[in-house]
Amino acid sequence: MESKKEIVLHGIAASPGIVFGKAYVFAKQAPRVEEKSIVESEVPLEVERLQNAVDRSEKELQKVLQLTEQKVGSQKAKIFEAQIMILADAVLFGSIRKRVQKELKCAEFAVHREISKYQQLMMNSSDEYMRERAHDVEDVKNRIIRNIQQEKLISRFEPNSIVISEILTPADTVLFSRNEVLAYATDMGGVTSHAALLSRSLNIPSVVGLKEITKQVLTGDSIIVDGYTGNVIIHPAAETIERCIERKKEHEHFDSRLKEIREFTAQTTDGKIVHLSCNIEFSEEAVSVHAQGSTGVGLYRTEGLFLRTENYPSEDEQYSEYRAIVEKAHPHKVIMRTLDIGGDKVVSSSSSEENPFLGWRGIRVLLDMPEVFLTQLRAMLRASAHGEVWIMLPMISGIKEIRQSKEFLEQAKNELREKNIPFDENIKIGAMIEVPSAAIIAGEIAQEVDFLSIGTNDLIQYLLAVDRGNEVVSSLYQEFHPAVIKTIQNIINDAHRAGKPVSMCGEMAGDPVALLLLLGLGLDEFSMTPHILPEIKKIIRSVSFAEAEEIARHVLEMKTEDDIKDFLRVNLHSMVPELLME
Ligand code: PEP
Ligand code: MG
Repeated sequence: MESKKEIVLHGIAASPGIVFGKAYVFAKQAPRVEEKSIVESEVPLEVERLQNAVDRSEKELQKVLQLTEQKVGSQKAKIFEAQIMILADAVLFGSIRKRVQKELKCAEFAVHREISKYQQLMMNSSDEYMRERAHDVEDVKNRIIRNIQQEKLISRFEPNSIVISEILTPADTVLFSRNEVLAYATDMGGVTSHAALLSRSLNIPSVVGLKEITKQVLTGDSIIVDGYTGNVIIHPAAETIERCIERKKEHEHFDSRLKEIREFTAQTTDGKIVHLSCNIEFSEEAVSVHAQGSTGVGLYRTEGLFLRTENYPSEDEQYSEYRAIVEKAHPHKVIMRTLDIGGDKVVSSSSSEENPFLGWRGIRVLLDMPEVFLTQLRAMLRASAHGEVWIMLPMISGIKEIRQSKEFLEQAKNELREKNIPFDENIKIGAMIEVPSAAIIAGEIAQEVDFLSIGTNDLIQYLLAVDRGNEVVSSLYQEFHPAVIKTIQNIINDAHRAGKPVSMCGEMAGDPVALLLLLGLGLDEFSMTPHILPEIKKIIRSVSFAEAEEIARHVLEMKTEDDIKDFLRVNLHSMVPELLME
């Protein structure tokens, strides 16, 4: 029983599920180094950690070097070459190892002491160039220390903890999941940040945008994270814990009832059929295609594979991952999205830009890196010999990018033909509509491709000028802003006029409150995080298309997000009363 006073914090529900457990507060800051001694028997492990951190740092820097060369040319990339050379300095690392082995100091302290010595010598130089280089040396030092500490961090925190942090990057989210984390709760972050999307993919409940949770919780505190409501309860009282267990049961019961309709078609009471598909990030998740009763994968985010591997995955590595997904989803189709790095999905902290979401992202990166693009296209084409694959291009802002991408696709096909490697000759290619310029010319884009898919996560942030991951402005990130709804209506109508199907793969497609509206606007396919799919199917099977059209017509006349949301909620509740509305 807890004696401390219960504190309830309200944040943004980012990944569903209710858990009760102990907190682990993860403080992310510039590396701090303490002079810690170790005992003789710890030497081999400490030396191994040092070596792992140096290896990891080198791989990171190679990746940054490669990216920088592609982006700004090899001259400017030289600074990273110099940093890699420091890592290869046998004398320097000999002295560092000696400090660990002979002086019995922890690895990060040894790194700090030895590299700082070099750094100081350079700082004292009369040559300005030399003094400048001292910063590069410091960067390398911090990178190695960070990597040593990250390794220790994972082995230090108890499995089955609730991780509390100011912010989590997509990489942290995946890294911690290896330690069987129960839930995430963060000060910052928005519901469509990629860290939030990843926690949903990993089935880890999470609440973001809690503002000050890191100041209110200590490691070891008891805590409840409610990923349905966005509430986090610190030091919960016994009755609160009981209530939380009750609600968890209600959700489980509702979910078990949804399983009964798994094999049924997503068809309205008056006969309109739509496609419901899954958004996935890892090949393991492809099992949800059948388990959740979907009609395939509507968005396979390939970034996960690239973020998990140290270097760019080879064509064969990609092929085997893509093929595994296609085979698991069979006989349904898989829409594979080409790499969408940039924005908050950084490959390395060093490739920072002032405005990453308006910067080098998605298709822009691929068109600048032909080899990366061609390798991925070949791997996807090869996977298409094993089932139905469609290819989708992210962050399209104009026709030229589509035409260039199609040329790359032709080249990739030719390369495979020359080697007699089989693939689907009629593979479909589509564009994501997630940049306002693309939304405005959706009709023209539809004529160039086989299908469109609306990426509302980005479309909303770019249309409304509201960063999708920034909780300070999260109340302005409005799915139901009339401008968003009118834009979606135009995209659907323009695509249909061009005779092309249109799907939606942003989070809005899996929002029960948005469903009647999107159905009524004529959306053909809804692709969503798999866990929500049965509930969405239940709603579709409980309503009529005619009523949904009527609702959409009414919403298009409404002026504010609040009115629209209330109207949709009331209608949803009266049409499907058994839904567990939070
Ligand atoms: C989107 O922007 O809606 C989308 C599906 O892509 P991502 O969330 O990966 O940027
Ligand atoms: Mg997007």
